[in-house]
Amino acid sequence: MKGEFSLETKRVFVAGHRGMVGSAIVRRLASENCEILTAGRDVMDLKDQAAVRAWFAAEKPDAVFLAAAKVGGILANDTYPADFLYDNLMIEANIIEAAYRTGVEKLMFLGSSCIYPRMAPQPMREDALLTGPLEPTNEWYAIAKIAGIKLCEAYRKQHGSDFISGMPTNLYGPGDNFDLQSSHVLPALIRKAHAAKVAGDSTVQVWGTGSPLREFLHVDDCADACVFLMKNYSDAGHVNIGSGQEISILELTRLVCEIVGFEGEIVTDPSKPDGTPRKLMDSGKLLGLGWKPAIELRDGIATTYRSFLAEYA
Ligand code: GDP
Repeated sequence: MKGEFSLETKRVFVAGHRGMVGSAIVRRLASENCEILTAGRDVMDLKDQAAVRAWFAAEKPDAVFLAAAKVGGILANDTYPADFLYDNLMIEANIIEAAYRTGVEKLMFLGSSCIYPRMAPQPMREDALLTGPLEPTNEWYAIAKIAGIKLCEAYRKQHGSDFISGMPTNLYGPGDNFDLQSSHVLPALIRKAHAAKVAGDSTVQVWGTGSPLREFLHVDDCADACVFLMKNYSDAGHVNIGSGQEISILELTRLVCEIVGFEGEIVTDPSKPDGTPRKLMDSGKLLGLGWKPAIELRDGIATTYRSFLAEYA
């Protein structure tokens, strides 16, 4: 690992600033003495190579957080494989190449824990990458994200670019997608438990068997880890960003119901996919660099529920 990178007075582009992760990075960067650059879809289509090149040439960012991606839960991934593969490949390839061409000093690419093989030993270490077959329900997204890691490594190897990648575990928090067809599990459970409470229903339904295990990290912790890595990490290998807080989907549902105040029964729907049985990351590399998460799952769900109420209810 090389020395430190300073964000002081730098022009920092957050790609994907309207998304849950990008908006959290923008919030986190507000306490740094840097200039934050963003570009909405109306200004630049990240899938359009010419548009991305032109924007980078004109704006000349010094640093880039690549948090733009087509994302979604287990059903969305399974339903739109072409979008998940094509959109993500285009977005990352265009940004990484444009960053190299315009001399961006540092870039951080964000991936996901689904890059690891379905049956990777748990907790999953960085070196489990490409050691076995992927989980089929999200392999399209995973392949694109693996390509993003390799792009960063390749530009570092061939051109000496200081491009790094971080792989967050399952994230949640304000700004999440609460649409039941395309969301991840935590926002879906918040919305379902809230709706069941308001309607006076006797049950709330959970997809799959409820037995899969997932690790959750609050997006503000993730953003803090991203800024930490941007400043303190400069190496080819990607870095896991996790909390170590693992919970089964059924236990998670109980916790969400308790926080929301829904007292009815939880029923499972085994006709829906479970996905990978367990997805716990080994975040020893990041912890070893001196970072740690600050937000407990229960507290994080409670604040996310409040932001859901403010926005939707
Ligand atoms: P994954 O971590 O990539 O599998 O993505 P998800 O967050 O979409 O799903 C995590 C787990 O939660 C899977 O086992 C889902 O079947 C389960 N799950 C239970 N209820 C829901 C729900 O209402 N929505 C979603 N997206 N997942 C659910």
